[in-house]
Parts: sequence; structure tokens; C-alpha cells
Amino acid sequence: MIGSCFCEGVKFEVYGIVPKLYQCHCSMCRKVTSSTSNTAFIIPKENFKWIAGNNNIKTYRKPTGYRVDFCIDCGSTVPNEYRDKEMWIPAGLLDETLNLNISNHLCVSSRASWDEISDVGKQYDGVPEMHHITSP
Ligand SMILES: [Zn+2]
Ligand SMILES: [Zn+2]
Repeated sequence: MIGSCFCEGVKFEVYGIVPKLYQCHCSMCRKVTSSTSNTAFIIPKENFKWIAGNNNIKTYRKPTGYRVDFCIDCGSTVPNEYRDKEMWIPAGLLDETLNLNISNHLCVSSRASWDEISDVGKQYDGVPEMHHITSP
């Protein structure tokens, strides 16, 4: 499946895997997305390929280590390398939605008062161990 940023300058492909989506409701993810939560997935690097624009990305890091990579032209959050062997990918960039659903909700206890979770995904108060989140 193909993913791209708002201006379509950054393009990538995810293949050979069905992504398991998670949504993080923490205050930092709210800021980064300007929304209720960050919907994303983590997959092995070998299931990911850049198609275009990966030299048009800027990284911002909080002192805490929280990192966000974004397209220099349009500001969309874009994939970044996660723990050497994996890629973190914002789900909203996928050009087809397929039949994916949210498997896990993170930091549910710190969600905004106007954030209502209405699917059957597993809910965690904080952040569970990464193997619960990573795909497959
Ligand atoms: Zn862009
Ligand atoms: Zn978060």
C-alpha cells in the first residue's frame, strides 16, 4: 500500500504486512496532530520502502526524546526510523484505508475530555510493552 504526505512530495510503500494500528492519546501526540490522538503503526524496516521525498524531511526532537519528522513543504508528519530495525508510520498518510482498524489505544487515562473512544481496540492507561503494538 502506498502512503503520501499532504503535498504528495513524500511517498512511500508498505508491503508484505498488515499493519496493526494504534492510537496514542497523550498530550504530546495531541499537539503533534492537532487532534485527539496520533494514529500510527510500527513495522519491520524490510516491509517499508521510500518512493520519493525522503530528502525533504525535517526532524524535531523534544528534550524528552519525543521525535516528529515532517515534510518540509506541507508539514505532514511522515514516517521515521524507530529503534534501528523498525519504521514508525502515521496511518493517515495511507492512500487507501483497506480494512484496517485500531488494535490498541495508548495513554487513555490522559486523553482529552472531548476524546471519546468508540471502537473495540484494547485500551491501556499508559504505554504497554512495544511487542503489543508492533505489527504483525
Ligand atoms: Zn508534503
Ligand atoms: Zn503519545
